[in-house]
Amino acid sequence: MRTAVIGGGAAGLASAVFAARAGSSVTVFEGNDRVGRKLLSTGNGRCNLSNADISPARYATAYPPFLETALEGRGFGFAREFFASLGVPLTVEEGRAYPRSMRAAAVADALRFECLRLGAELRTGVRVNGAEAVKGRFMVEDEMFDRLILACGGMAAPALGSDGFGFRLAKGFGHRVLEPYPALVQLRALSPDKSLKGVRAEARVTAIVGGRRVREERGEVQFTDYGLSGVPIMQLSTLFRGEMEVVIDLLPEWDFTSLTEELSALAEHLGDLPPAEFMGGYLHKSLTRRACLNAGLDPSRPVGALTLRELKALVGAFKNMSFKIVGTNSWPQAQTTRGGVDLREIEPKTMESRLVRGLYFAGEITDVCGDCGGYNLHWAWVSGAAAGESAAH
Ligand SMILES: Cc1cc2nc3c(=O)[nH]c(=O)nc-3n(C[C@H](O)[C@H](O)[C@H](O)COP(=O)(O)OP(=O)(O)OC[C@H]3O[C@@H](n4cnc5c(N)ncnc54)[C@H](O)[C@@H]3O)c2cc1C
Repeated sequence: MRTAVIGGGAAGLASAVFAARAGSSVTVFEGNDRVGRKLLSTGNGRCNLSNADISPARYATAYPPFLETALEGRGFGFAREFFASLGVPLTVEEGRAYPRSMRAAAVADALRFECLRLGAELRTGVRVNGAEAVKGRFMVEDEMFDRLILACGGMAAPALGSDGFGFRLAKGFGHRVLEPYPALVQLRALSPDKSLKGVRAEARVTAIVGGRRVREERGEVQFTDYGLSGVPIMQLSTLFRGEMEVVIDLLPEWDFTSLTEELSALAEHLGDLPPAEFMGGYLHKSLTRRACLNAGLDPSRPVGALTLRELKALVGAFKNMSFKIVGTNSWPQAQTTRGGVDLREIEPKTMESRLVRGLYFAGEITDVCGDCGGYNLHWAWVSGAAAGESAAH
């Protein structure tokens, strides 16, 4: 049995390991001059490779029932065992799993060493420009294979090799590809306040789409000259489809009433200060100035001179700072792809095509888009394992 894997990223390497362990001869075609290049950039070089809380709810897809089956019995324990078998124990920080060494290079190396130990051939520097089915087998780079695994990634971070070519290959085999969008990416706001550039704040963010509050996240928001960034914002980005409002609660630890009471009491002895200085222990000055303007208040007026109504308007501005989102940053800044090969045309337990026998898919090429927190790499390992294992039988 000969298996070809197109793409030597996370999913391609996992599928190569599982196919080779199950006895197939494996050839991995990788366009870059080394395998696992994107892995080196993940988790800020630490590779957040899974999460202690794996569940279908952490993934966006047009066909959710697929993930119920595909992830069944392949939660965090699966990733932990797989990496233990490669000599990479994991450590977990706030649910996020990393290699104990905290080195992404160790993960890429371990996968590569295992492929080589098992006799898989890693053909780097080979950008495949076509593949076809010939009498139940597959022609790749003028060679015949019994099985073909497409693990070419999506379109995020194209400089690292994934330029969307996999979607063309999938379409060539008759598969439907749902329109790809950049995901886990920064949001661009209408008339952003450039004075906020570089400011960070722990906040609660809410995405409003079509007038409905569709998702809420907490974490550090980063304000930029074009809009918003930071993990909670990237989590919301998967929902952007041309229209979205993001409402930021800059002081989520207080509800409206308790914050109004607390600030009123403080104003009794600190009332001579203007709002930015008065709030200095709570928030960055630029955010307070922005909140004053949003509330229609003069930022230079001392807080003690505000009426209760004005103070309440200011509290409202802190708790509901709204941004109209007009777009996302593009593929070079995106961490992953929303959309991809339609899951309705793939078997969830084996990742085999329902249209072409012997053809398999793994990783970001499929219409599976995980949250920040190790979910996308977890999908690469799970789908790669399923594809590799079943391709070999
Ligand atoms: C900066 C950054 C940080 C990230 N951090 C995390 C994180 O911490 N945790 C997490 O879970 N996810 C993270 N992700 C997302 C995660 O890295 C991807 O979802 C995952 O790598 C997808 O794996 P893949 O193998 O499907 O695709 P890829 O890793 O994109 O691999 C696809 C491979 O196929 C090759 N290829 C494509 N076309 C061809 C062709 N025609 N011929 C030959 N080779 C081809 C490419 O060169 C590439 O090596 C991050 C992404 C980025 C960009």
